[in-house]
Amino acid sequence: MESVLPVPAPPSVPVHGTAAVFPVRRIYCIGRNYAGHAREMGVDPNREPPFFFGKPHDVVVPRGGEIAYPPATSNLHYEVELVVAIARGGRDIPVSDALGCVYGYAVGIDLTRRDLQARSKEKGQPWDTAKGFDQSAPISPITPVSVCGHLESGAIWLSVNGLEKQRGSLSQMIWSVPEVIAHISGFVALAPGDLLFTGTPAGVGPVVAGDRVRCGIDGLGELEILLV
Ligand code: MN
Repeated sequence: MESVLPVPAPPSVPVHGTAAVFPVRRIYCIGRNYAGHAREMGVDPNREPPFFFGKPHDVVVPRGGEIAYPPATSNLHYEVELVVAIARGGRDIPVSDALGCVYGYAVGIDLTRRDLQARSKEKGQPWDTAKGFDQSAPISPITPVSVCGHLESGAIWLSVNGLEKQRGSLSQMIWSVPEVIAHISGFVALAPGDLLFTGTPAGVGPVVAGDRVRCGIDGLGELEILLV
């Protein structure tokens, strides 16, 4: 059937070491999944069920690179996160089956307009403008599980202009990758192409135009962005 508008190419992320791409369907993010970050946001870390928010799928920035400092904020924050790429979906996925749904893993940054997020929290309003803006999800190539295995305890880190700002371990996640998959699939049917941002360790902070942000996760390599 003829479309009345040009159909945009589906967003995709390169698969590490190949010419193939991973097509992105939806992006889900989990909030406050490391105790240190929960504390720095003024919240007591606990094992209350995780909460989720989304980003539009076309905000991914494959391989990072130059990112335009977004409008309407004066407090843009970095949050380095392990990203889970889903190959097999479903509803109510048991924890014991969850890792079988994973295609691979990547390093991502959940860019956040912290000032707009604070205002949203204050007013009980949604987080969309704080979290879901253009270019708000830079992401490294995805490494397939067949290459990197499942990641449970490696280092996760981020630096700004060569100064380390975040360093944690994936083992510090309050909700593990299989638990995140099980929880979210109780609310929505996961499907092939979904990306899950799994939360950030302590040390988030602001960046300004001209800043170079590097981050990485053991076993996955690095991601770099330059704010312009
Ligand atoms: Mn985050």
